[in-house]
Amino acid sequence: MHDDIERVLFSEAQILSGIDRVAAEVTEAYTGRGFTVVSVLKGSCVFASDLIRRIPIPLELAFVSASSYGDGTESGPVQLSFFPTGQEIEGRNLLLVDDILDTGRTLSQLFAELLKRGAAEVRSCVFLDKPTRRAVDFQADFRCFEVEDLFVVGYGLDYAGRYRNLPFVGALHRAAFARD
Ligand code: 5GP
Ligand code: MG
Repeated sequence: MHDDIERVLFSEAQILSGIDRVAAEVTEAYTGRGFTVVSVLKGSCVFASDLIRRIPIPLELAFVSASSYGDGTESGPVQLSFFPTGQEIEGRNLLLVDDILDTGRTLSQLFAELLKRGAAEVRSCVFLDKPTRRAVDFQADFRCFEVEDLFVVGYGLDYAGRYRNLPFVGALHRAAFARD
């Protein structure tokens, strides 16, 4: 699996120090206010689990799934299925956590839907941000790293369902794409 990676963009140590920084920002923003971290499945589960363990104030955890019917490396229309119940959304301060902000479609749709369902406030925290790819007007409130327009895998991010368990973020060799 590691042989399929052409270049490491963020090492495990770089990732953890980026998360320390963002966790401190999130802690400052929510101190004294209850909030719920809403992790967008499946990609953000690795990031969310490292992030929440660095936030030393009370929080709750919920999950939401947003499936995109793209071709594997491009995101397409988004279908939302919600795991949080009405009670977990209504009147709550929600922090949507996702692996990567690309076109912005996923998070902007989730934002609108959570507000429609009665959230008091919705903010977003992303592990990676590809600002050059944005198709809708959307900015994350918190982010760990900016990345160039490149398809990346690892640390939760997959290609065809694989590579989520790599402890670093890297770019795949062309040969790894060609195999599928
Ligand atoms: P958006 O709706 O912002 O275009 O899409 C965000 C979703 O597209 C991410 O949660 C992720 O599932 C997928 N995605 C976008 N860029 C990449 C990438 O470089 N690598 C991987 N593995 N997934 C990506
Ligand atoms: Mg995703």
